[in-house]
Amino acid sequence: MKITVIGAGVGGMCAAARLAKAGHEVTVYEGSDRVGGKLRTEWIGRYAFDTGPSLLTLPAVYRDFFLKTGKHMGQEMEVVSVNPSFDYRFADGSQVKFANLSRYETLKAITQSFSPQSAAQWDSLMRVAEKMWDISREPFIESELKSPLSLFKRPTFIKDLFAIAPWKSLRQLADEQLTDTRLRFILDRYATYSGSDPRKAPAVLSSIAFVEETFGAWHIKGGLGTMADAIYERCIKHGVTFHLSTPVQEILLTKGKATGVMLANGERVESGAVVSNADASFTYNTLVAGKSYKLKKIRKNLAKSEASLAGFSLLLGLRASDEAPLEHHTILFPEDYDQEFDSIFSAKKPVANPTIYICSPNDAKMVKSENSVGLFVLVNAPVHSKDPQSGWDWSDEKFNSEYANKIIDQIEARGISIRDRLETLTIRTPLQLQESVNAPGGSIYGSSSNGARAAFLRAKNRSPIKGLYCVGGSAHPGGGLPLVGISGELVANAIGERAKRTTK
Ligand SMILES: Cc1cc2nc3c(=O)[nH]c(=O)nc-3n(C[C@H](O)[C@H](O)[C@H](O)COP(=O)(O)OP(=O)(O)OC[C@H]3O[C@@H](n4cnc5c(N)ncnc54)[C@H](O)[C@@H]3O)c2cc1C
Repeated sequence: MKITVIGAGVGGMCAAARLAKAGHEVTVYEGSDRVGGKLRTEWIGRYAFDTGPSLLTLPAVYRDFFLKTGKHMGQEMEVVSVNPSFDYRFADGSQVKFANLSRYETLKAITQSFSPQSAAQWDSLMRVAEKMWDISREPFIESELKSPLSLFKRPTFIKDLFAIAPWKSLRQLADEQLTDTRLRFILDRYATYSGSDPRKAPAVLSSIAFVEETFGAWHIKGGLGTMADAIYERCIKHGVTFHLSTPVQEILLTKGKATGVMLANGERVESGAVVSNADASFTYNTLVAGKSYKLKKIRKNLAKSEASLAGFSLLLGLRASDEAPLEHHTILFPEDYDQEFDSIFSAKKPVANPTIYICSPNDAKMVKSENSVGLFVLVNAPVHSKDPQSGWDWSDEKFNSEYANKIIDQIEARGISIRDRLETLTIRTPLQLQESVNAPGGSIYGSSSNGARAAFLRAKNRSPIKGLYCVGGSAHPGGGLPLVGISGELVANAIGERAKRTTK
């Protein structure tokens, strides 16, 4: 079957390679001039920066992708464990390093930094999170999302319901399990892995902490963007055709069924199925025209879901110093974490004292001289919008530069020198992400997981419009590399099933 894919992000390319391997004739139209979407390693002078994802979790998703489409992942790229996985530093000067792939070592570190009681509480929390992961992984992550009614019919429904406790927020779980504010901050931060507010995100997001600990935190030598290139090569190997700088303007419908696309240059392309890797709200509000009941319902659901947070980042090229090198992932927590979520989701303003994430890969393939250190600094931010009710206008370069300097001041105040060894500083705003990969408002993960119903409001992989499929961070099961890779597989399987039915 002829299949059109809109967008060469990770989700679009993972679906494309699997579909081409299954024998379909796949063509990808990408609006920008490169593949990979948000997953990107960029060189600026002597430094390479992972300007999108800088942490790979649940690598099994990509091991499966590479294995099913050709050579092992390990034959294509050097995937290395990041230990410690995180160096968490707090405003009161205390610090704890979480070990990679070892609960034992992490509990030892919590005992030494905080107390044995805190370690016991974290261990107990991880047991709760493990239960939630066991229950939720199959119906909510590894399969297409069924209706709430079909979940209701599961024989273990009542037991599972009490274990998952969808009425409980991540914050409420912290209130029950953890007494040390610092551990509560660490748990809260997992809400931001899906761009959400821990006070609204469901407790089941604690399973991300369990998954990170159990399946590890990983880096890819040369930068995570290396994986986008390898996925692209896999597509090429299986005969996928790519057209870069070729935005799609419309998804064509014939008698309510998707039958192809119209490109911005006016060319019409017919196909048996259309896979959209563009943001779901853009797909349904802009690419698909019409006012059918089905479309109205989807648009209503998408309008109800809250955009995930966006990111403001600094790409810092520094000369090496005598200071002890930073760990791969360092988190500088502020004194008050809630002001960050109030600022982003309620006031829609940049955060005065944000949590600061610093990625210092210590990877010789990411610098051109031994005397160089590249730091990728990311703080959470409101989405870009000219309307102050919806977001922050990130087009003011003077403000952006002052804000960048305030962040550098805050990093230096925590004992990490920047200015006296700074060689290059590049700022990236939500507006730039919106313009480069058509991410509405520059939101990092599409829609957030704010609210118990968020998963059900997200676009389904198999659209109610026949012949149309949605893949990527704004579709089921959600954002972040592991889930996006899974969405590629779910879409390829759904089209495979349909193809089998029609050839019978
Ligand atoms: C700063 C940042 C940090 C992140 N950190 C992490 C992390 O550490 N770990 C992690 O797992 N994830 C992280 N993520 C999230 C991760 O990058 C995304 O979830 C994932 O890459 C999204 O993939 P996607 O398939 O949804 O496609 P996207 O990357 O959103 O790509 C969509 C593609 O579609 C194209 N497109 C859109 N509209 C059209 C059109 N009309 N016609 C043609 N083409 C179109 C776009 O140009 C783009 O190339 C981060 C993201 C950002 C921005």
